Amino acid sequence: MQNTASFWVDQFSREKRKLRISVTDRCNFKCSYCMPEHPEWMKKKNLVSFEALYQFCELMVQGGIESIRITGGEPLMRKGVVHFIEQLQQLKPLGLKRISMTTNGHYLKKYALALKQAGLDDLNISLDTLDAEQFHKLTKNDLEPVLSGIEQAQQVGLAVKINTVLINGQNEDQILPLVVWAKAKNISLRFIEFMPLDGDAHWQKQNVITEQDILTVLATQYQLQLQTQGSEPARRYLLDEQYEIGIISTISHAFCGSCDRIRMTAQGELYNCLFATEGLALKPQLDVLLANPNVDLKKQLQQKIQQYVWQKESGFDAIYAKKQPRKISMHMLGG
Ligand code: SAM
Ligand code: SF4
Repeated sequence: MQNTASFWVDQFSREKRKLRISVTDRCNFKCSYCMPEHPEWMKKKNLVSFEALYQFCELMVQGGIESIRITGGEPLMRKGVVHFIEQLQQLKPLGLKRISMTTNGHYLKKYALALKQAGLDDLNISLDTLDAEQFHKLTKNDLEPVLSGIEQAQQVGLAVKINTVLINGQNEDQILPLVVWAKAKNISLRFIEFMPLDGDAHWQKQNVITEQDILTVLATQYQLQLQTQGSEPARRYLLDEQYEIGIISTISHAFCGSCDRIRMTAQGELYNCLFATEGLALKPQLDVLLANPNVDLKKQLQQKIQQYVWQKESGFDAIYAKKQPRKISMHMLGG
């Protein structure tokens, strides 16, 4: 059941129900479509503390947020993240329904059980190829820990989904192998179109493997049936009436018309869209509120967030048409 009304609504009447929080911009991988060649990491002193983040999450849930996803950089690189997830459970009686994480999977062998015990509801793991050499080329790290991390996550009973970004000339040969592998392991698989959010802004449209490209490859082996779309951004296809895959086609079929998401960086900048050119810096106010929790400060913060969310643009096309230089990349915003 959905909360009755969301405080967080934009000028196009889209209520925000999902909040993504990046807890660090640091990462032990260097995916070519995400990380800049020479990242300048956020300074530790500029990160929002978990105490202040918890307070922010409480405010957001009280206003109608139903789902929180923890992301990064690599979220499992931030000390204290498992405890934070445990703490977020306290927001479930206030209306929070799901606590999720997106991870590269490298540290999962160590953390999967703790995450399950902390009450994590589901886990998205990024995996772009099953070929160890290709994996190393794409991420500058090793495939094996990710595969054993996925196994561990399944063993402890976490609900796992695999996210795959396909890049023309790099890993488009992995469409069928990944489907066969994920089906055999009984794991959900979603392909994601490459978005213009890479750290060094090298994105070009011709590097995007589109939904249609993916369907053309799948159709050589499977009968495809498009499923009715729910509130999720992925378009779902049933293969041979047996196994379902999803495709998030932000570039070829933007789903902005029903976007219910907002995002926060590890430095406490709120973004009303993945492609927004301006964020809203909240850390100073969150720190003051933490030191001096009072109703007036909370109200002021609430109004500031409400105004910023209201200004959300209609979508990717509208923002992209303005050709303003973008301010943020995926390793800071977290997908
Ligand atoms: N490090 C974690 C991981 O890789 O899952 C979490 C952060 S990562 C930024 C979140 C998601 O964004 C990953 O699934 C990744 O594949 C995706 N991503 C990163 N850059 C992208 C891009 N330019 N276009 C589309 N997806 C991208
Ligand atoms: Fe790191 Fe995730 Fe970006 Fe890859 S996609 S560089 S794992 S943050």
